[in-house]
Amino acid sequence: MKIAIYPGSFDPPTLGHLDIIERASGIFDRLIVACMTNRRKKTLFCTEERLEMLREITKGMAGVEVDGSGELLAAYAKRRGAAVIVKGLRAMSDFEMEFQMALLNRKMNPELDTLFLAAGDRFHYLSSSAVKEIGALGGDISDFVPPAILGKVKDVICQA
Ligand code: ADP
Repeated sequence: MKIAIYPGSFDPPTLGHLDIIERASGIFDRLIVACMTNRRKKTLFCTEERLEMLREITKGMAGVEVDGSGELLAAYAKRRGAAVIVKGLRAMSDFEMEFQMALLNRKMNPELDTLFLAAGDRFHYLSSSAVKEIGALGGDISDFVPPAILGKVKDVICQA
């Protein structure tokens, strides 16, 4: 069984993330969408909210599991029996950091490969931080966030 992990902060999940989840789940038998918690990285949405939103948008998707982890990704992948990490690549600006991470992860876990999927053409410009900034300034974020979690995302952004 081919197991892959799609890790991220998902603060909040966007249509760009969902596009990668849908495409990657068609490639692997099981895709673990891993909400990574990092004490040094401050998020607007708490871990439980991010997990809940990921569960909501992947509901009914065959072979997709949502999980959370505060571990080193290479160690988490080993523990979960995953041989592949899936990453979405938007622009060249994503590349340098992602390339370094892919090499470091492979150094720490030689059985681990990273597979890059090019962002969907409608989502190249989209990031969680853009959603938070536009939302906080009263802009319309409905084209950026899955409809199932739009209300929740707006609520949290407005309260912040
Ligand atoms: P962000 O970079 O928006 O803060 P994450 O850290 O949650 O988001 O990203 C998790 C993964 O999803 C990374 O591999 C990132 O490159 C990818 N990703 C983020 N936004 C998009 C998008 N719009 N299209 C494709 N992939 C994306």
